[in-house]
Amino acid sequence: MKFLSRTLEVKTERGPQFVDITDSVEEAARECGLLNGFAVVFSKHTTAAIRINEAEPHLLRDMEQMLGEVVPAGNDYAHNKYAHAYSDNGERPNGHSHCQQLLLGASESVPIVNGRLAFGPWQRLFLVELDHGRDREVVVHLVGE
Ligand code: ZN
Repeated sequence: MKFLSRTLEVKTERGPQFVDITDSVEEAARECGLLNGFAVVFSKHTTAAIRINEAEPHLLRDMEQMLGEVVPAGNDYAHNKYAHAYSDNGERPNGHSHCQQLLLGASESVPIVNGRLAFGPWQRLFLVELDHGRDREVVVHLVGE
């Protein structure tokens, strides 16, 4: 059995933002030389998610808008009031970012078949920034033979 772990550095610009990380994950899978197995793609953050969807620009805007409608930034979050308010430790109020991340999730797993990630024709992997722009880390674990 083979195993490879990579940490991708991803710079985001704003939240919400869908950042396409497919090419970096595919590159790691190629390096690993797996014929069959799987890749686990994992966000090390509580306000940035990992999701698979289509990289159509209008759809990305629709999904960013949906996140704001389902979990609006302007709601009354206890996290903002009591945990790390702006004046407290420099963090922006981000109760909505945590709640949006809860709905999306921290990881995806992708099968590797015949040496390639087994994506459908429109599937892409995204880091979804839900807070403000910053440096993010995504762990890619590749396991198989
Ligand atoms: Zn927070």
